[in-house]
Formats: sequence, structure tokens, C-alpha cells
Amino acid sequence: MKQGDINRYEALLMAKREEILGSSRHREDIWIVESNDLIETVQLASDRELAIRTLERESKSLMQVDAALKRIDRDEFGICLECEEPISAKRLAVVPWAAYCLHCQQLHDTRDSTDAYEPQLAA
Ligand SMILES: [Zn+2]
Repeated sequence: MKQGDINRYEALLMAKREEILGSSRHREDIWIVESNDLIETVQLASDRELAIRTLERESKSLMQVDAALKRIDRDEFGICLECEEPISAKRLAVVPWAAYCLHCQQLHDTRDSTDAYEPQLAA
């Protein structure tokens, strides 16, 4: 991959990182809100649950973005972790933090949905 392309992906990843960090800071106010009203409490509980799920998703995204930035450092960016083939530029344009080519990602997705409760190893 050309250095210019790598720099562009690195900038995209850094921007994504800032975006994730910025939005999780933004959501902190949910945690300190309390209410004596039952319906409101239920609503807050489900808001909180939603916030937890969003935070989980965001921390997972953050891990993927950080892992991609590490791959840039190690000159391994854009290479599928599974089959070691280059990940297509089209895929990286949509998902700059992609760790797998489309084919391997699909295999992973199928596997992940069947054993979703297994602990995930960080790449
Ligand atoms: Zn692959």
C-alpha cells in the first residue's frame, strides 16, 4: 500500500477514535440522573441499558480502531489477519479498521453469532 494511502487511513482512524471518545464522554450525564417516579425510573433504566449497550459497542469499535492503528505502526495495515491477503481498497474505504478481508469477516460473523458468549481475544 502507498504511504499516502496509509496516511489517509491513519487520519480517518484518528478521527474515528476522537469521535468515539467524544461521544462516550457526552453520554456520562445519563449515569447521574435519578428519579422517584416509577415510570420515569423504568424509562431511565432502559435508557441506561441502551447506553450500556452503546458503550459496549463503542468500546469494541475503539479496540478495533486502536488495533488498526497498531497495524499501521507495524506495517501490517490492510492485510487480512486470517488469510494474509490484502483487504480491498473498497472495503477499507468503508471500514478503515477492518482486520479481515470480506470473505474471512463473513466466516467470523457466522462463528461469532453461534458462540457469542465466548470471551473475545483482542487482535
Ligand atoms: Zn482473509
